[in-house]
Amino acid sequence: MRIVMKFGGTSVGSVAALQNVVDIVIKHRQQGHEVLVVVSAMSGVTNLLLDSAHQAEKGNEAISRQARQQIAEKHAAATLHFLGNTPQQAEVMAEINAMLDEFTALCHGIRVLGELTPRALDVIGGLGERMNVPQVTAILNHADVAAQAVSATELIVTDNRFGSAVPLVEETAEKSQAKLNPILAAQQVPVITGFIGATADGITTTLGRGGSDYSATIIGRAIKADEVWIWTDVNGVMTTDPRIVPEAHPIAHLSYAEISELSFFGAKVLHAQAIRPARRDNIPVRILNTFEPDHPGTLITAEAKESNRTVKAITAIKNMSLISVQGSGMVGIPGVAGRVFTAGMVGIPGVAGRVFTAVGRSHASVLMISQASSEQSICFVVSMADAAKVVEALNHELIRELERRDIEPISVEQEVVVLAIVGADMQGRPFWQLWGRTCRGGLA
Ligand code: ADP
Ligand code: ASP
Ligand code: MG
Repeated sequence: MRIVMKFGGTSVGSVAALQNVVDIVIKHRQQGHEVLVVVSAMSGVTNLLLDSAHQAEKGNEAISRQARQQIAEKHAAATLHFLGNTPQQAEVMAEINAMLDEFTALCHGIRVLGELTPRALDVIGGLGERMNVPQVTAILNHADVAAQAVSATELIVTDNRFGSAVPLVEETAEKSQAKLNPILAAQQVPVITGFIGATADGITTTLGRGGSDYSATIIGRAIKADEVWIWTDVNGVMTTDPRIVPEAHPIAHLSYAEISELSFFGAKVLHAQAIRPARRDNIPVRILNTFEPDHPGTLITAEAKESNRTVKAITAIKNMSLISVQGSGMVGIPGVAGRVFTAGMVGIPGVAGRVFTAVGRSHASVLMISQASSEQSICFVVSMADAAKVVEALNHELIRELERRDIEPISVEQEVVVLAIVGADMQGRPFWQLWGRTCRGGLA
């Protein structure tokens, strides 16, 4: 089988974890599989890099100096452990130090200009993966696994939406196959940077926080992998966030549709977009534990397997705001109650359409929407960070209706949590039945 294996931040974040990575790669190669490795930055590194960039914009350079030292020490400790005091270790550290020089220069430029552009933020954010790839490659080579470092900027072509770039499928397939097939044919393991890609002009982009999962499935689809394995620090997708509910337990099987809901509604174990490339080509995805490699984890495929649990999992997204637009002027014209969000269907011409056009102009994404059946109110949820600009856009759009009191002042509940209850055969079941099953302890 051709398997893309992605190792997350904690899976490459310590000497013990890196030893498990080596053992896992060796074991599956010995079983005859073709293995491609996608790596995240060592745990904590991306946060240090991004915080430094934000601080530099505010004129603070001390933070980036401290971050540089911490990152260098982390890599030096790992390379020294595996490679010892050897020319290979010195070579890897020289590469890492050259990238840290780039980091220092970028932070300096940001501080001088007093401006941090999304494009610069992506260059800085992606440095953690770029530093980790030569390290993991050297460690594998040292363990007699022939490995070759590959930058995903040579594989994944994206648009220029910095911070959450969208991959271009055909260009990515062409480049990935041209670069990776010869490496695989030479029996080598490509070690690829997660998280980053590049525009057609070669400018570095990132795929959003946690984006190395997405890198793995994008590359898996591009090179027609048989499976994609996401190695992380828990025994698969759990019934809920194990950091909040310690009794949560792993789910053996999920469908693409189920994981798609779970990751969209905040299950951090998989990037929200990551399942899409696998789903398009029906590639099975496994979520596995680097620290317990023999645990079967979670298998994700197209079909929803029979289960005695209607509700499979619960997620929570914090730091959201609930915005309500309401008023007597919004009452529907007779005969259309219950049909929602079509411009022109409510009392004020096109009010629902105008509300969402205004939200769209503010570039905020809406997580969920509801409308009272009386049609007197529309409520929707956006992230807390976006709430103020959404309200401003609505006040601007609805200025006349607000003045005439057809619409009441826009109300905002600043801090709400969105809970999502997910399961393939929930549809059509009454809420009391689902709630009963959930509360009787079926989940935890
Ligand atoms: P990685 O660095 O390997 O990508 P992440 O921290 O991004 O790992 O994702 C794994 C973490 O996701 C787990 O340690 C766990 O705390 C958290 N998590 C949240 N919800 C879930 C869930 N439903 N199932 C499993 N893990 C979850
Ligand atoms: N290192 C990146 C992040 O922390 C990508 C990843 O780990 O998946 O967001
Ligand atoms: Mg992750």
